[in-house]
Amino acid sequence: MMQPVRRRETCRLCDSARVERVVKLEPIPLSENYSYDRNDARGRARYPVDVYMCEACGHVQHLDVIDPKVLWDSYTYYSGEAKGMPEHFRSVAERALTKVEPPANALAVDIGSNDGSLLKPFKAAGLRVIGVDPATDAARRANEAGIATFCELMTPKLARRIRDEHGPAHVICAFNVFAHADDLGEMVDCVRIMLHDDGLFFFEAQYLMDIIDGVLIATIFHEHMSHHSVTPLVPFLNRHGLELIAIERAKIQHGSLIGAVQLRGGKRAIDGSVTGLLKLESERNLTQTSTLRAFEAKVQDLRATTVRLADGWRKSGANVAGYGAARSGPTLIAQLGLKGAIDFIVDDHPQKVGRFETGDGIPVVPTKELLERQPDYCVILAWVHAQKIIETNQEYLRRGGRFVVLCPQTRIVGASGDEPF
Ligand SMILES: [Zn+2]
Repeated sequence: MMQPVRRRETCRLCDSARVERVVKLEPIPLSENYSYDRNDARGRARYPVDVYMCEACGHVQHLDVIDPKVLWDSYTYYSGEAKGMPEHFRSVAERALTKVEPPANALAVDIGSNDGSLLKPFKAAGLRVIGVDPATDAARRANEAGIATFCELMTPKLARRIRDEHGPAHVICAFNVFAHADDLGEMVDCVRIMLHDDGLFFFEAQYLMDIIDGVLIATIFHEHMSHHSVTPLVPFLNRHGLELIAIERAKIQHGSLIGAVQLRGGKRAIDGSVTGLLKLESERNLTQTSTLRAFEAKVQDLRATTVRLADGWRKSGANVAGYGAARSGPTLIAQLGLKGAIDFIVDDHPQKVGRFETGDGIPVVPTKELLERQPDYCVILAWVHAQKIIETNQEYLRRGGRFVVLCPQTRIVGASGDEPF
């Protein structure tokens, strides 16, 4: 049988072997694969998600690498369906076009293009667009929507083919996949192959500083192989013939970096945003192992609190639901010690209802059952939407239910607001 996990021994950015484990976590199943069979869901293999830091360049990363085929084959996330993403992509495309000022009929390439959502505004602006994404269903949706998409992994061979057949690209994007790729060196080599001399490459990735500040434990799963910061990226890009010229912090995904990159020695000057964030990272010791160890201690505190709560629920025989069959669900359950504590999960997503959460085998039922079953507690697993879920489920609270918010700090919310615990 194919071994789905491979162990890396060196840093993903600089290849140094001086990598140190800085955050120890519980192994978790591949989070996106909710199952039709409860026993299958419970029996799913768990893989490590421990976090490491490179002592040479400061890059924070996972070294247990899941085979991309296993990771993407049944991926059911569509960026066009994710709340706020189409609007985000429109505004990103607008700003990218202002920065690049591409000539008429220029080419835009999106690596990890998912359902084509990011390319749509570029196409609307008159650019030729090409997507690349190995996730079968997402690529099919993109092609059906008129966004020409290669359903395969980005490789130098494909990059050369795109350049040969369509010419160099004025805009290249890698949003999210920048955190997803194991071989980032190869990915930026592909960018260098395809990028026009006057073009810009834009990447987006969750920002390590925001993960630490917000204790965003729910976003640490197998897909996110890198937790990026600016300090290690600058020399990495330089080594690959590229140059970071601007970087901004965005609110999307609870805190991200959006970088603009040109060919090394290109016509644009490096702006103050790069030096600004480098200075901030240095002041915050972001590339020091002690900073990550402090984060690990915070996660352990959070876990101790939820374990105590779950023990109380077990002792009192409380009925407990989870809200949202999100990707982060199995992660939160494992990392915060909630195994065995949740009886059912409510969610209306057609690809989740009737299935079972992997790890604990918790059944997913439609959200209307929250009022029908009226559990004593409802743990919000779709942590990103906690506030909205509370606002739209006031009737559940009025009838005596309580929502449990897990991060960045544990909260119990009843009909009249936060309750002591
Ligand atoms: Zn390194």
